[in-house]
Order: sequence, then structure tokens, then C-alpha cells
Amino acid sequence: MTGADAPPITAVRTTRHDLPLSRPWAHDVTELHVIGVEVSTADGGVGTGISWTPTIGAHAVQALLDHDIRAFVLGRESDPRQLWPRLWRRLHEAGSGGLTTIAMSGVDLALWDLQARRRGLGLTDLLGRRHDSVEVYGSGVNLHYSLDELVAQARRWLAAGYRRIKIKVGRPDPAEDRDRVAAVREVIGPDVALMLDANQRWDLDRATAAMAVLAEAGPAWIEEPLLADDLAGHAELRRRIDTPVALGENLHTWYRFREAIDLGACDVVQPNVVRVGGITPLLEIAALAEERGVALAPHLLPELSGQVALALARPTAVEDVEDASFAATGLLAGPSPVAIEQGRLCSTGALGLGLELRP
Ligand code: MG
Repeated sequence: MTGADAPPITAVRTTRHDLPLSRPWAHDVTELHVIGVEVSTADGGVGTGISWTPTIGAHAVQALLDHDIRAFVLGRESDPRQLWPRLWRRLHEAGSGGLTTIAMSGVDLALWDLQARRRGLGLTDLLGRRHDSVEVYGSGVNLHYSLDELVAQARRWLAAGYRRIKIKVGRPDPAEDRDRVAAVREVIGPDVALMLDANQRWDLDRATAAMAVLAEAGPAWIEEPLLADDLAGHAELRRRIDTPVALGENLHTWYRFREAIDLGACDVVQPNVVRVGGITPLLEIAALAEERGVALAPHLLPELSGQVALALARPTAVEDVEDASFAATGLLAGPSPVAIEQGRLCSTGALGLGLELRP
């Protein structure tokens, strides 16, 4: 059902979920926030999506959904590809990306959920399944961990069968980064891929100096070495170092991804399905990466990005943060729509997006 055939939207209902983290992401980041979005249509259909904000903006996102977005989408067609560009233009004066696109994601995901349910399919099969499973990498928000805790986490990933892992760098003392990266490399051995993530903590000169040292551990990429806004800086860093550069979790639009790629700012793009505004724009960004020959590794939310990755032409590695899944944080009333075993993710055959949110 597309375009004029898609029944009109009759209701948008939101709920806020505060999800405690059993492994805090920092001393002051102890919970995540999700806005559940339920969209109803004139044919009696109901779809469920989410907007997700780890720390900042949950109330603002819910307010955008409850006021500006609801007012615009009521009575409009429920085809996500038709609705997305119109809603985006409508909200654009509030910012082309960020809170705007995070809020839009709730509706976009709900409409994809509805489309798949109408056809009796899961999301991957609606999009066109190309893989039975995709690789997953173990990821930790662990900059505040002690060296012992960090090494213990790396051991858990190895024991769980992961062949790629990612750790944080950017401690105040660069010598600590060197010691932590070396200790993890020692534990995982030479054959497991090790990615590093600086979460925008460095400037150009510090990043250049840090990577001259950290390159000894053979990292598969350095992620967000600089402020995400500084694409020209990333392009310059990429000329200075040999380690591939990854970024994109803090880029919110197709246009910014095109800029990043065409400036030569990165080797790997990492769109977050919620932050870019849902599945509709994620598919466009994936097509752009494919066309330009740049690798794609979706940021977090493996329950959603994993289902999309199973339908992408090129295999990709999906990020799985330890103990931060929808199931682990108590978001879901039912089973997870994906299963992760021995470092690989597959879908479980749930209808739609397979998100049944806890009341
Ligand atoms: Mg990151």
C-alpha cells in the first residue's frame, strides 16, 4: 500500500519510558529514555515505533510529537516514504536534524511497522532479505571503567563469541589510553578486530598525537576523534593518520552524510536509525554509502538497525552495547525481534518491527 492507497492516520499516542542501565554509561548517565509512539490508521491498523534519547531531550521530543507532529500527520496518508519528506519540511524551522529527526523517527518506525504487519511480514522481509545473519560487534561505554573492569569486559565479549570489539579512548592522560588499548589487545589477541571510539573528545593535534601512539595496537577504526560537527577537521586528520576514521552517530541528515563522504572525512559511516529520523532516511543514507563505496556500520539499537542490515546489499557490522539492549533495559513486554549468538545477529520472525513495549 503506497501513496493514495495508504489509509489515513487517525491517532498518534506517545508514552515515556525511563530505562535504568545496569552498567551506567558514565557516573551521571544511569538511565536511557525512549518515547513510545503508537500510530493508528482508518483501517484499524496500529503501528509501534520509538524515539530514543540516551540523556538529553526526552521531554522535548515527546512535546514535538504530541503537538507539532500529531497536528501535521492526522488525516495524512500512512505511507512512510510519502509522509517523511513532507513532515521534515514542516518541522524544518525547528532544525533540520537533532530533536526534529529523533521525534520524526517515532512516527516513521510506527508506519514501517504498520506496513509490514499489513503484509504479514517482519521488517527484514518487507525490505527484502539479503542475509540470514549479520556480524555484531561488542561495544562498551567504558571510559570510566578501571583497567581491570575494561579487561574483564573484553574477556566477556570473547567468551560470547564476538570477533570485533570496541572500547572508548580519550582519558585525560594519553598514557592511560595507550595502556588500556594495549591491555585489551593483549587479551583479545591479534585476530579479533579492535575499534576505538573517542566520542569527540580530542582536537586535531591531540588526535594526531594520540593515533600515532594507539596505531601500534592496529585499530580497525578510530571513531569520532573530533567534534562531530567538524567534518573538515576529520578530513584533515584522515590525511594525517593511517587508521580508518568512522563517524556519523551525531550526523542527522542525508545531506550531512553526503558532505562527510564527499569531503573525505571518513572511511565508515555510522547512522543511528532514530537520530536520522527512522528507516526511510536510513535506507537513503545506506544507498548513498553504497553508491560512494563507503562502509556502513549502524550506531547502536541492534533491534532496529540489525533488521535493516539483514536487507542491505553489503554485509555490515551492527553495534551491540553490553547490557543496553531493549530487553536488558526493560523496554519490551515481549521477546526481542532479534537474537544475537556467537557474534552474529538474526531476526526472530516477529511481525513488523516486533516491538511490544511494556505499558
Ligand atoms: Mg560512538
